[in-house]
Amino acid sequence: MKKLILASGNAGKLREFGQLLAPFDFEVLPQSAFDVPEADEPHVTFVENAIAKARHAARLTGLPALADDSGLCVTALGGAPGVFSARYGGEPKSDARNNARLLAALAGVGDRRAHYVAVLVLMRHADDPQPVVTEGEWHGEIIDTPRGAGGFGYDPYFLVPGTGCTAAELPQEEKNRCSHRGKALAQLIERLRLGM
Ligand code: IMP
Repeated sequence: MKKLILASGNAGKLREFGQLLAPFDFEVLPQSAFDVPEADEPHVTFVENAIAKARHAARLTGLPALADDSGLCVTALGGAPGVFSARYGGEPKSDARNNARLLAALAGVGDRRAHYVAVLVLMRHADDPQPVVTEGEWHGEIIDTPRGAGGFGYDPYFLVPGTGCTAAELPQEEKNRCSHRGKALAQLIERLRLGM
């Protein structure tokens, strides 16, 4: 099997990517297994941060690397919190503070459109001039009263059109099917199937 470094410390992502990429002969390993420290994420776009993380992991391990970057973009806020989604409410990161800041920013605002974005970057090596880049979006709107116990982050406030449910009320398999991450991953798999 080909080794693929996941540029993330998230155990859930490691399991999910590991299962989905095994049929393509990839053994997905966490960057922590190679003592790779977290990369800086200095950019204001998801794609730049994902590239920076994948390149950092590929450079330090000498192996192909996969990175993802994701967040929530609110139309009336010019795309904020965007790449700052995890820490929108300040340090240390807290979903409750992030959501409180989001609702405060949207107080009195009629346009509640928002979408999640996920970007995946697979680099064959650190100087790969043509990394595989895929992107998924999931559109919805922000409501004022939280509903549901599933998901994480902004999900209890993210109403999914046509379902009457927030992202936190959807069963996990349904979220995986329609979510930004699910779509980006499906595209990555399609690209691998065609031969990367
Ligand atoms: P990361 O890419 O895993 O670091 O996620 C960035 C941040 O975006 C998370 O901490 C959440 O605040 C937000 N986010 C990304 N994806 C989701 C999601 O599926 N549901 C809720 N929040 C999300």
